[in-house]
Amino acid sequence: MATQTGTPKPKTPARNTDPLSTPVQFIKGVGPKLAQVFSSRDLSTVRDLLYFFPRKYEDRSQMVLVKNLQEGSTASVELTAHQHFTRPLRGKFSKLFEVKAYDQEKQWLSLKWFRIFKGFEKKFEPGAKFIATGTVKIFGSTREMVHPDVQFDLEDDLHVGRIVPVYTEIDGIPTKTLRKILDVALQMGVNALREELPTSILSKHRFPEISQAIHEVHFPASNYSKDETGKFANFQSPAHQRLIYEEFFKFEYQVVSQKINHEKARGHELDGKKLVLSFSEAKTKLPFELTAGQQLAMKEIFQDFEKPHPMNRLLQGDVGAGKTAVALLSSIAMMDQGYQVALMAPTEILAEQHFQNTLKLFGSKIPVKFLVGKTTAGERKVLQAFLDTGEPCLLIGTHALIEDPVQFKKLGLIIIDEQHRFGVEQRKKLREKSIIEPHTLIMTATPIPRTLALTAYGDLSVSIIRERPPGRSPIKTHLVRSSDTAKMHEFIKKQLNEGRQAYFIFPLVNDSEDEGFKHLTSAVSAAETLANGVYSEFKVGLLHGQLSSNEKAAMMDRFRKNEVQILVSTTVVEVGVDVPNATVMVVEHAERFGLSQLHQLRGRIGRGQHASSCFLKTNRPVHIPTPERLEVMCDTEDGFRIAEADLELRGPGEFLGTKQSGSLPFKIASLVRDQDWLMKARDDVIDLLKEDPDLKKSENAPFLRYVQNQGKTESGRLKTS
Ligand code: ADP
Ligand code: MG
Repeated sequence: MATQTGTPKPKTPARNTDPLSTPVQFIKGVGPKLAQVFSSRDLSTVRDLLYFFPRKYEDRSQMVLVKNLQEGSTASVELTAHQHFTRPLRGKFSKLFEVKAYDQEKQWLSLKWFRIFKGFEKKFEPGAKFIATGTVKIFGSTREMVHPDVQFDLEDDLHVGRIVPVYTEIDGIPTKTLRKILDVALQMGVNALREELPTSILSKHRFPEISQAIHEVHFPASNYSKDETGKFANFQSPAHQRLIYEEFFKFEYQVVSQKINHEKARGHELDGKKLVLSFSEAKTKLPFELTAGQQLAMKEIFQDFEKPHPMNRLLQGDVGAGKTAVALLSSIAMMDQGYQVALMAPTEILAEQHFQNTLKLFGSKIPVKFLVGKTTAGERKVLQAFLDTGEPCLLIGTHALIEDPVQFKKLGLIIIDEQHRFGVEQRKKLREKSIIEPHTLIMTATPIPRTLALTAYGDLSVSIIRERPPGRSPIKTHLVRSSDTAKMHEFIKKQLNEGRQAYFIFPLVNDSEDEGFKHLTSAVSAAETLANGVYSEFKVGLLHGQLSSNEKAAMMDRFRKNEVQILVSTTVVEVGVDVPNATVMVVEHAERFGLSQLHQLRGRIGRGQHASSCFLKTNRPVHIPTPERLEVMCDTEDGFRIAEADLELRGPGEFLGTKQSGSLPFKIASLVRDQDWLMKARDDVIDLLKEDPDLKKSENAPFLRYVQNQGKTESGRLKTS
């Protein structure tokens, strides 16, 4: 800010008003330079720092005698320096700095550093007393620590003699400095923290108050028993639990209130009798009977259609469960009552597939329209003119649907296929296309673990199709190493000769010269090799994202018609593609794919009455263990189990899409580790909204204050969408 010359008014610095909003720069020990580093991590105020939680803890409350040191453990030892020396390291420019020291029983311990720190030689003068904390290595009778943390000031109880916090490293700020700054920040701000949880909640769960919790989570008191100490390491101390709970509680408050508000909004209310009529008529056009799961989903959707507020429903069903039929039947019922419907698919291939299927099944009965990126301006104009008439129709397309030019006159239902490819923003944009909020049906094949369903999608009602349509045989999944490929090809050829088809999936389109990708076979080169080699007697097709959308559509069409027996592809076929005659899926370099992705890929087969096989190939030598997730794939076809495993192995980002994962605001809570607290918080929120929706009771006053201040404070940035 530029300072204006003129009347020099003594300004009261902002830091005097609220210690929590004091800029980091004004904390003792932090200058403008450090402040800049902090702010690059979104840490700008004292409050931000208080909510910058330790990543883990080291128990330095007990001093260990050298004779009791255990190989591999981390321990603190009180030592006296005896001598130190510096040695050049062979073949390198670096040097080794070593200190020989002893404890009170005159037992020796060596400390080693592979670089020289300024002033170390002076500090380790013979006779210097210090405490070293580090990982213990034992070679025969010698014990050593490499790069231990050293504390010379034995009066300073910040870094030793207690459980000490370890923070996520911030470039250029040593752990100790960070700890010191946190200590000062706590002294400045911790008592200014105001309680925001209802008092009844605090007593119900026996939680410490906010200032105590924040203090403890950084610097646990030194009077904990050994048992309690372990709780800090596991994020299970009372302080942790309270802070974890608080994040969930605030988040669920938003989610649940949003859901309640949504239920109050006015929507298109449909005639129940007519719904049933449309349904029974449209059903007869399907070449199969609906499964119980599909029927239940239809019932739930129709119940929503009859309500005066808009539906907001997630239809969850494993790959191949038959979600499309549910979508089409819902659309027809909607159109029969005069509404327009938008169905949005994540790729052009899928949109095209939905379009073709719909034409085939219902083409004569309903106007089906198509809109993708390649749709010409002229075609768009014609389409828009049609939409403007307000006549019912089903418009199938890609994200081109949410581009501004298309406007609906009477949008009654939005269907979003394979939701995880769409951001929350896009969802909202589509909804905004009509004045009265349309009903929304989101379909996903990625089974969402319960914890995520309650957070990211907590405002949605959920329908689940659990079973797959009858007459499908299970898929056998095999791990294949290079040495087994000949056998695999033999098996596949047999399948092809029986009239079946196969997918071969590769991680890259083209060969790459980049380090890290060089060893990978690409789709383009593999298509060449397979077509001219093992599979020369069959037609091999190639599909990848760099083809034009016309080329892609044409290739899918040839595969669907069995003019091509082998489809070599990248993951563009991952989502939704439906060719029941394909019974073989080969995934090359399977270790490069995530679990959910593998599950999606495998879902392309096992869609017809023929037995199917999935081969997960890895070129890793036999002595390198297979990644855990490949084993999960062989063990189960259950999408829910796979999703849970994926959540555990990779975190929530995978489910929400990279963009959305940022919208989960948890700093200390973990959806995997703290599931129980999430459930408790949600239940408490539901009770709260039932018993005191306006937060009028005095026990809820602290929370009311939080709700009113939302957006002004850091924690107010919680947003569900
Ligand atoms: P997904 O849920 O993965 O989107 P689809 O809707 O693509 O699944 O359906 C997969 C296949 O199963 C399609 O060929 C579809 O025609 C077929 N199908 C859907 N429902 C049934 C059913 N009730 N009985 C038999 N086949 C069905
Ligand atoms: Mg689908």
